[in-house]
Amino acid sequence: MSKSNIILVVLGPQGSGKGTQAEMLAKKFNLTHIQTGNIFREKAEEDTPLGRKIDRLINKEGRLVPDEIVFQVWKEYVEKIPQGKGIILDGNPRTLEQAKFIDNFFKEKGREINKVFYIGISGEETIKRLSVRRVCKDCKKSLRLGIDVEESDKCPKCGGELFQREDDTPERIKVRLDTYKEVILPLVDYYKKQDKLVEINGEQPIEKVFEDIVGCIED
Ligand code: AMP
Repeated sequence: MSKSNIILVVLGPQGSGKGTQAEMLAKKFNLTHIQTGNIFREKAEEDTPLGRKIDRLINKEGRLVPDEIVFQVWKEYVEKIPQGKGIILDGNPRTLEQAKFIDNFFKEKGREINKVFYIGISGEETIKRLSVRRVCKDCKKSLRLGIDVEESDKCPKCGGELFQREDDTPERIKVRLDTYKEVILPLVDYYKKQDKLVEINGEQPIEKVFEDIVGCIED
């Protein structure tokens, strides 16, 4: 497997650390990191019918953005990445239809997803981790309250203001977890059948999770 044009996917419940791992993998293998959550949060700030619809879905209701919108936004974004550049998908696909869409998209370009990492953590651990998550308004880095930063701190990476995501409250987390469980099993199955799925224990230190993932890529 060539590392320079590899396509990877990280799957896992919210708070599993998939964003952190994707960021570390992007750095190590020089991959373009695609986080649909961040793309939609930016769109949600736009004062347009689409922006308001996305804001309602992701911030007020904690529901998934419908596939037709995801396809449109995703394609527009990924088309801009130079052909042959390595990619890591984080937070997408979220549905079986999206997985099929992404497969077809890459197939048309003569490419394919190489490996899919499923980072597993329990429901209790998810709630525990998300309740202390803070995000930088500028560089979007996720930080842990009481571990990486204190309540009044600025982002240690860029000095930006930190905030708690509107969907990181216990009620919102529960809805997102329920939605996630409904869609994750068919996705896991889909990639298992393609022989691309690798299950990783997400309840280990960040460096150990990373080591486990890198070990599979460098095999
Ligand atoms: P995340 O930052 O990955 O937790 O995403 C935040 C929110 O954006 C999710 O709860 C969804 O509402 C929405 N979202 C992100 N990625 C997708 C996707 N691939 N399909 C549908 N909705 C998504």
